[in-house]
Amino acid sequence: MKNISLSILVALAFAAVSAAHAATKPNIVLIVADDLGYADVGVHGCKDFATPNIDSLAKGGLQFASGYATSAVCAPSRAGILSGRYQDRFGFQGNPKHGASDWGLPTSERTIADRLKTAGYKTAAFGKWHLGEKPELHPMSRGFDEFFGFLGGMHDYFKANDPGWGAIMDGRQTGELNEYLTFAIAKKGCAFIEQQKSQPFFLYLAFNAPHQPAQAPEDYLKKASNITDKRRQTYAAMVMALDDSIGRVLKTLRDNGLEENTLIFFMSDNGGPLIKGSAPNGSRNDPLRGSKLQLWEGGIRVPFFAQWKGHLPAGKIVSEPIISLDILPTACAVAGVETKPEWKLDGLNLMPLLEGKTEHLARTELFWKFGSDQFAVRNGGWKLVKVHADKGLFDLDKDISEKVDRTAERAPFAQELKAHWDGWDAKNPAVTLKAAAEKPGQSAGPEQ
Ligand code: CA
Repeated sequence: MKNISLSILVALAFAAVSAAHAATKPNIVLIVADDLGYADVGVHGCKDFATPNIDSLAKGGLQFASGYATSAVCAPSRAGILSGRYQDRFGFQGNPKHGASDWGLPTSERTIADRLKTAGYKTAAFGKWHLGEKPELHPMSRGFDEFFGFLGGMHDYFKANDPGWGAIMDGRQTGELNEYLTFAIAKKGCAFIEQQKSQPFFLYLAFNAPHQPAQAPEDYLKKASNITDKRRQTYAAMVMALDDSIGRVLKTLRDNGLEENTLIFFMSDNGGPLIKGSAPNGSRNDPLRGSKLQLWEGGIRVPFFAQWKGHLPAGKIVSEPIISLDILPTACAVAGVETKPEWKLDGLNLMPLLEGKTEHLARTELFWKFGSDQFAVRNGGWKLVKVHADKGLFDLDKDISEKVDRTAERAPFAQELKAHWDGWDAKNPAVTLKAAAEKPGQSAGPEQ
């Protein structure tokens, strides 16, 4: 009897310690939209449709005025987000075709989910993967306990089996799709949140909206009937459905008393696609120049917000440039995971910046590389960029639209930035993961 009582006491004490432990570690929710234009959220001035739930993250948290993706297309951007390393460090640059079997996030890389699992986090990925289709590249081989969604770069929003992009997967099995895909992804996210009572969690909600194909529920198309341009109307309907879905996830956190114990990031994986070959969807990036597929600001500067109610300021605009690579080290910092030099992370812990303890990060430059004739480097308010035959040095603080090339008046500075970029790129291996369309003998098709 004594022994039994003692073991109950020990068990209770252990449970109390576990609960306290869990309470000190915030949950982390990372919401990624796909091909959402810079101008297509209310807080960035969108006027023809509303995004109150996405806006609520900016209003209840921080809005990054210069928040960047690491690539102007989907898959490399996701490789950067999940690894916390410039995807160029492992030669990852393009998008694959469905069924490109050798292609994906190299197994030498560890994901944010791998890292957080070491701190006792329960992890889930719902939505678009786009980082490999082989069993060893499946999300559940890359640190995620659960997966629902699809492995390729795009998917039909109504059919479980997309003839071009394969089946909806539930875990490693073929899954069902009984509603609009955006809603189904959110529903999985809400259920996952509901299930976590005693364990901190990391939820990666990788919505494929508003990426092509242009498909929206009828009632949302009606809501967008003020928009006469057909493509823009469907796009608006898709973004409003996405916004409502994010609202459901936020409500679930709130209803479960988790809002003040959850750090939320929201971003788009790349800028809005406007040009031929980028799978244009009716998005807008103004006042930014350019499109998905380009290293102008319109391809890489994205809607990017962070919210942690009760811990971070509300409604603050952060002007310091940040990049998706910073999400992993920030998540590790709040989860109590010590990052190690041998991980060779390129991102930084943003917490001192987010908490207002500093205005600047210990970093002078951000770099981008895309194809053989595009590069960019940002240093403070300046950006040196080359997009095919067009290039220039721009003062983004005064010229966010990259209109006035200042190279002639600051030639030595431009050369210095190029030298820094060359030095950064010298450490990158040859690009091995190019877009499938770049391989000879394959048709290009829409870039995903
Ligand atoms: Ca994308």
